[in-house]
Amino acid sequence: RRQMLESLKDRVAVTRDGVRVHLEANIASVEDMEQALSYGAEGVGLLRTELLFMERDQLPTEEEQFTFYKNVLLRSGGRPVTIRTLDIGGDKPLPYLGLPKEENPFLGYRAIRICLDRRDLFLTQLRAILRAGVFGSCRIMFPMIGSVEELRVAKAVVAEARETLTVEGVDFAADIPVGVMIEIPSAALTADLLAKEADFFSIGTNDLCQYTLAVDRMNEKIAALYDPFHPAVLRLIRMTIEEGQRAGIPVGMCGELAGDVAATKLLFDMGLREFSMAAASIPEVKAIILGL
Ligand code: PEP
Ligand code: MG
Repeated sequence: RRQMLESLKDRVAVTRDGVRVHLEANIASVEDMEQALSYGAEGVGLLRTELLFMERDQLPTEEEQFTFYKNVLLRSGGRPVTIRTLDIGGDKPLPYLGLPKEENPFLGYRAIRICLDRRDLFLTQLRAILRAGVFGSCRIMFPMIGSVEELRVAKAVVAEARETLTVEGVDFAADIPVGVMIEIPSAALTADLLAKEADFFSIGTNDLCQYTLAVDRMNEKIAALYDPFHPAVLRLIRMTIEEGQRAGIPVGMCGELAGDVAATKLLFDMGLREFSMAAASIPEVKAIILGL
């Protein structure tokens, strides 16, 4: 079976009646990029940038970030790479930011909420990504968007980053798509509105499941209640895919469910065509797609 899976590496994921599906990897480092390619990833559906911030004792500079994004893009061989802006807080602390202790960290000051509050930090990351964009094919993705207003403000900071780079005469990629993760129920329920202002969606089932079911994804005592196959979660996923399709924007999934072979057929039937997962899951999911 292992040999069979290995032999799939260079085959594209296509159903028996010819429907093409894109299988990408979730990565956090340049080394992960190598591994992703070895499993036949067609791109990166989620580049988590937290590691870059967590492995230091102060904020990475624009140059440090630029170098990292550039190196990932150079190794991608022209494949698309979706770079997610900082998703810190909740389960991922960042000691040097001096974040306050919170009663409900998952409902608190995290991800895009921090970035929109700490514009300096956000602007630096966006400038680094825009500059690195000339070395490959990349997209910018915001985590934890809960409303159209948040998306608008975040996009305004992207515009500001472009303006400052233009004024300074610094080279950057001007046409990078800007999309959102759909991982809060309010985002899924307003997917039609968000789709008018986002270039793409990527469904984050890990948080979507946690917030829809009110089940802490880290709490082992209630792990049995954490069920991404709950009809409430599936309805939000279906709604997101349909609204994305209606608006004509690409819809992918980068939560764990995308790499779960038990979900592949269901998600495909709902219209999902871009799956991003831990690289090691790609061959198994591809085998399922090839049999559909
Ligand atoms: C998700 O929430 O599904 C996701 C992909 O993001 P993370 O697991 O990093 O929160
Ligand atoms: Mg998430």
